[in-house]
This record gives sequence, structure tokens and C-alpha cells, in this order.
Amino acid sequence: MRCLCASLLIGSAMTVVSAETASTVFFNGNIYTVNEKQPRAEAIAVKADRIVFVGPNTEAEKLRGDHTGVIDLQGRAVFPGFTDSHCHIFGIGEREMNLNLEGVDTLKDFLVKVQERVTTTPAGKWITGRGWIETFWKPPHFPTHVDLDKIAPANPVFLIRADGHAAVANFAALKIAGITRDTANPFGGEILKDKTSGEPTGLLLDNAMDLVSKNIPLPTEAERQRALLTGVEREIRLGWCEIQNAGSELADQKIIRDAFATGKIKIRVINAAYGPGEAARKLLQDGPILNAYAHRFTQRTIKVMFDGALGSRGAALLEPYSDKPETSGYLTQKESELEPMFEQALRRGIQVETHAIGDRANRIILDLYERAFRTVPPEQRKIREPRWRVEHAQILSAQDLPRFAKLGVIASMQPSHAISDLFFAPARLGMERLAGAYAWQSFLTSGAIICGGSDAPIERGEPMIEFYAVVARKSIRGFSGEGWHPEQAVSREQALKMLTLSPAYAAFEEKDKGTIDIGKLADFTILSADIMKIPEPEILKTRCLMNVIGGEIVFEDRQ
Ligand SMILES: [Zn+2]
Repeated sequence: MRCLCASLLIGSAMTVVSAETASTVFFNGNIYTVNEKQPRAEAIAVKADRIVFVGPNTEAEKLRGDHTGVIDLQGRAVFPGFTDSHCHIFGIGEREMNLNLEGVDTLKDFLVKVQERVTTTPAGKWITGRGWIETFWKPPHFPTHVDLDKIAPANPVFLIRADGHAAVANFAALKIAGITRDTANPFGGEILKDKTSGEPTGLLLDNAMDLVSKNIPLPTEAERQRALLTGVEREIRLGWCEIQNAGSELADQKIIRDAFATGKIKIRVINAAYGPGEAARKLLQDGPILNAYAHRFTQRTIKVMFDGALGSRGAALLEPYSDKPETSGYLTQKESELEPMFEQALRRGIQVETHAIGDRANRIILDLYERAFRTVPPEQRKIREPRWRVEHAQILSAQDLPRFAKLGVIASMQPSHAISDLFFAPARLGMERLAGAYAWQSFLTSGAIICGGSDAPIERGEPMIEFYAVVARKSIRGFSGEGWHPEQAVSREQALKMLTLSPAYAAFEEKDKGTIDIGKLADFTILSADIMKIPEPEILKTRCLMNVIGGEIVFEDRQ
């Protein structure tokens, strides 16, 4: 797109300067406001960081003064600034800094990418990366250390699969870790071994990954800082105006705050602290931080991990896995440890968000939330309506699903998980349980609120993939298998809300964000196509042309 900036609104020699003058007028837009009273508009006027006008071009023109910036939107689709309600910002940055193997379609391409990195890395230094997935390789076999040894004989290499639950290591890395044919599988993990030779193949599952990864030098503070800036830069380019960071320790909280204090980042961040533990204790003790750094940083949430993931059969299910009847997954926290923390959180005005994937994890966390709400009634809470969240809420039994709406618990869901998992979820769960899996429409019909996110770097973290996934409920190649419940897909209006107004609600910010309305913060995502109208596959080709945060253009695609 040619530069949108500094195009002039209908030329006029005389401009009235008044208190009503806007700092910027955006006109000629195809604007979706997500405001039911005024769903569509042509123009927006902004003063400082807030919206002062939404309506027709001719009216917006009246707010133009000598110093007003004027942006011709050229008919582009404009939306309230998108929010990723669940991502891991340091991981996103690290994925960019390390070797990013997403979208690598063949073993050959995979090895070419690794080799490129080898040529720029001194001998002996670790090469780490993530994002590969062999599902579409021909044949769809895991890579092995033998593949890697040919191109990387002198560097230890450790490359994590896209889902984070498997990794391939080369011989140099296996050697550092002391993994041989005689090494036993650790608890909760597996060292894959060649059937004939008995030698390790280099492929490590779950806890076996730690045997190698614990030998990789930890990132320095400077590298963590760079990861944050790199991650934020990527998010802004993709059109995210806000991220809700799903968990952080104290050291990373300091890095985020320092980045704001020195003006290095502009994206809005709603940050959660991991709990139970030091970070949660400090949040409970010090209380929330609200709207710091010109409304860019809020920290009021404790993030709890409550079970594993479905792919690796760690998600806690009520009944055994259909493809491994000896296991039904596991919980990763003790209920007795969570109870006092939850009660204190209600008294201190701290929000809780809990990772729960399996139907058992979801049932027990709802039980725990419900019990805490009963023990600490509204008059004893700092915030009467606590808006606690369940992250993922992936598999629900029919009896538990309506409890979200009843308890006022928000379902924080990542549409891309459904379209990645559809290749293995039917095997893990069987046909019957799929009825309550990724059940977006059932949640909405029951009256629950869904805030949408990506869980990047587990998924790609692109708003267009999330929007497509939730309206199409098909893989990015258009595939949908048996029992995949197409009726759980949502309308485009519902999808848009999941990336705008609902995340604002989930962060107690609906008065300031989530719609394009007078008085709200001027955050807009401007796209190359009208995703409310184009055919589904074209959504995936749509890109962000401009990202506006607090009235400032923080990204513009000038191609
Ligand atoms: Zn996550």
C-alpha cells in the first residue's frame, strides 16, 4: 500500500482552530466499531490518545485544525485494536532470535535452515530452535540425530517441536547430556531408541527433553531484554495492539517495566504472575499495578498451571485416553495449595487465570473457583465481580460447560489449538468426548464470554490465523476430519468480539478499550482486506497495514 500518512483531506485554505480540534483524523475507512449502537463508520477523530469522534467523513472534517494529522484510509477495513488474550511474549521473541523452524514443509528444508545457522555459529556453541512439525513431511517421520550430525558435527543442536512436547538433539548434544543406549526413560518422558540398534535416535519426549536442555546456557538478562523487544516488534507488525502475557517471574516483570520506563515498547501489556510461588506472593502482597506508563501496563493476575497438554497425553481427563487406556493424564498442582491463594486473591482484588485443558482439570478448577467464591462472598472481596478465567478450557463435560456462565468465569481460548489438534484429538478422546472439545459455540450459547488468543509461541500467534480458525474450524489447508463439529464454529461478528471487546472485558478494560467509541483509547488494527466479507481462505492472506496505539501509528506497511 502506498503511504497512508500525510495525505491531505479535501484541501482548504481556511481551517478553524478550536478546542474541538483533533490531533488526528482518520477518514475514508471501512470501519467496524464493535459498538452495537453504531456498528459502521467512515471516519474517526483522535485527540491525544483517545477517540473524540466516530462517524461520517463530512463531520470528521469539522474537527480538522492546522496541526491535525490527516490519514486517508483508502477504504481499508479498520477494527478496534486486536488483543492476543494469551501469549508468552519472551518465548515469541526467543523464537525469532533462535532458529525459527515454523512452516518448514520438508526434512530437506528443515536441514537447510539448520545448516544456515551452523555457518554463522562458532564451533562448540549451542544451536537452539523450535517450531518444526513433521506432520506434512513426506514421509512424516521424526528427524534424527543422524540427519543433524551430517550438517552440524561441531555444534550441539537442540530443536523443539512446534507443540513444545518433543525435541530432536544431535549427537554432540546427546553426548553432553550423557544420553546413551543405556539411559533409562525419566519419569514423564521418553528417549526414543532405534528398534534394531537400540541407540537413541535423538528424539526426546516431554521430561526427557530436560536431560539435554538443562545443559544449554540460560539466556543472559541482555538476551531476555532483546527477546522482549523482538517479540513486541513482531506483535505490532501483525496488528496486535495489546497482549495478555500468560505468566511471568519477577525477573521478567522487571525487564518489561524497564522497557516501558525507557520508552522502548508501546504495545499494551496485561501481565500475569506465575503462581503459586514468589511472583504470586509478591503480587498478593503489593497489590495490582493498574494502567501504568500511560495506560500501557497492568498486572493484576495470577497464572496457575493445572494440567498438561492433550498431544502428550498430559491433559487431566475424567476417563482414560482413548488411544492409551492406562493413562488419564495428571494435575500439576495440589488443590490444597491453591485454596488459600485463591481466597487471598479475592480479598486483595487479584484475578486468577488457570491453565486447564482436560475435562477433569476443568471440573476441579471450577470446583475450586466456586468454593473460593463461596468462602469469600462479594462483600469481603476487593472486587465484587472477580472475572476469573480458565485458560484453554479445551475439553469440557456436558455438565461442566454451563458452569462458566453461571459462575461468571471467562473461557480464554485459542482457536488455532483446535485446528492444530484436529489431527490427533479424535484419537486421544474418541468421538463422544469431541462434543465438548473446543466448544466455542456451546460456550457462547450458554452465555459465557470467550476471550481469544494464540498461545504463541506454541502456535504461530497471528491474528488472521486465529480469526480464520474460529470461523472456519478447519486446518489452514481447509481440512476438517470426522466428528469435528463444524457447528462449533462462530460467526465473524462473534470472532471479532473474541479479539476485541471480550479480551477488554477479561482485563477489566471494557470502558477504555475493545470498541471504537468516543472516549475510548484510540487503538486500531487496519487490514489489507475486509475479513468480515471475504471468502475464508483469503482471511489467511490478509495482513496488517497499519497498527495504531493510543492515536499513534506504531506500524505501517509501506509496500
Ligand atoms: Zn500458554
